[in-house]
Amino acid sequence: MSPNAAIPSLLPIYNRIDLVFERGLGSWLWTTDGRRFLDFTSGIAVNGLGHCHPHLVKTLQDQAAKLWHVSNLFRIGELERLADRLVANSFAETVFLCNSGAEAMEACIKMARRFHFHRGQPERNRIITFEGAFHGRTMATISAAGGTRLIEGFAPLLDGFDQVPFGDHEALEAAVTEATAGILIEPIQGEGGIRPLPRVCLEGLRELCDRHDILLIFDEVQCGMGRTGQLFAHQHFGVTPDIMGLAKGLGGGFPIGACLATARAASGMTTSTHGSTFGGNPLASAVASAVLDVMLEAGFLDTVRARGDYLRERAEALVARHGETFELVRGTGLMVGLKPRGSNLELAAALRAAGLLTVPAGDNIVRLLPPLTVSEAEIDQALETIETCCRERAA
Ligand SMILES: *Cc1c(COP(=O)(O)O)cnc(C)c1O
Repeated sequence: MSPNAAIPSLLPIYNRIDLVFERGLGSWLWTTDGRRFLDFTSGIAVNGLGHCHPHLVKTLQDQAAKLWHVSNLFRIGELERLADRLVANSFAETVFLCNSGAEAMEACIKMARRFHFHRGQPERNRIITFEGAFHGRTMATISAAGGTRLIEGFAPLLDGFDQVPFGDHEALEAAVTEATAGILIEPIQGEGGIRPLPRVCLEGLRELCDRHDILLIFDEVQCGMGRTGQLFAHQHFGVTPDIMGLAKGLGGGFPIGACLATARAASGMTTSTHGSTFGGNPLASAVASAVLDVMLEAGFLDTVRARGDYLRERAEALVARHGETFELVRGTGLMVGLKPRGSNLELAAALRAAGLLTVPAGDNIVRLLPPLTVSEAEIDQALETIETCCRERAA
């Protein structure tokens, strides 16, 4: 407590779980009082390579002894290398680096508006978004996502967003106007409850955008960076965006975000239109490059896909055996949602008490987000823990 007020010294915006971790290795976390937990949260899809991956630790330590930060007023070797590699391994031709998912999405939104402005159509400045979306906590990103939990008490919101239901193509077509600049969507909703967009919807989105000269913006902050078994979730669908936001898994636990774009979509972002003090500094860029070193190794993503299939198979069998406890399982790769019939918060608490960490999400989902480096034995252990909890709750 602070000395003279009944408020904790830490702003109480999180209802924090009473666990303090002091150490992590691979898929495991240890508390200060020596308890061990199997981590199927990965810091909410951040620690894609698990805790303390040796290549990341070494890269961070080496870079920390050389150079942490210089301004973007100068060329930055590590940043140029990271940008080259993101471009070489994606649809994008250019990249802006920042420090978080919300900042990445802010850059995406600004870029879409600026594109039309630059072409002499400043009145095209509205962006279509989807119910259940999450794009971050800044004014623009909460305005984009809507949702009472995000926006209540923060009016006036930013104008320029038109929201439609998730997966309703007719409503989407009807929402397109002369003023539509872009369509912003998570190919798989994360916070909304691991809700994948059907392939036909993604194909339809691309076609709609092409027809109306609208920019298609993907928020892959949570579903990107190998999480689904492809480097980017949209690669499963063969549909590419014009602009895409990344963060979370990009730094493997080091804060970094990115806005990737085609040359055309980025054409309005000329000198001095945007910037960042910290974005892509040598420390962050070196670590993100090290994440790519591992994820781009031959076979890495194949293994993620195999582990994802294995997790999915086992989870489906569990749901089939325990229809009294679970309604369904959904997701792609190592981004799996279990929907219990009872409360997701209660289930997550019961699993935690049994040593398994999971993340609740919207639509009463419990998210399983293990590190991409998770082993089959660890998946077995997680599923056995869930099964034991089911039996105990049924008893
Ligand atoms: C987490 C998340 C964000 C926001 O990222 P921050 O780093 O918390 O700002 C944006 N979009 C999606 C899809 C996310 O999951």
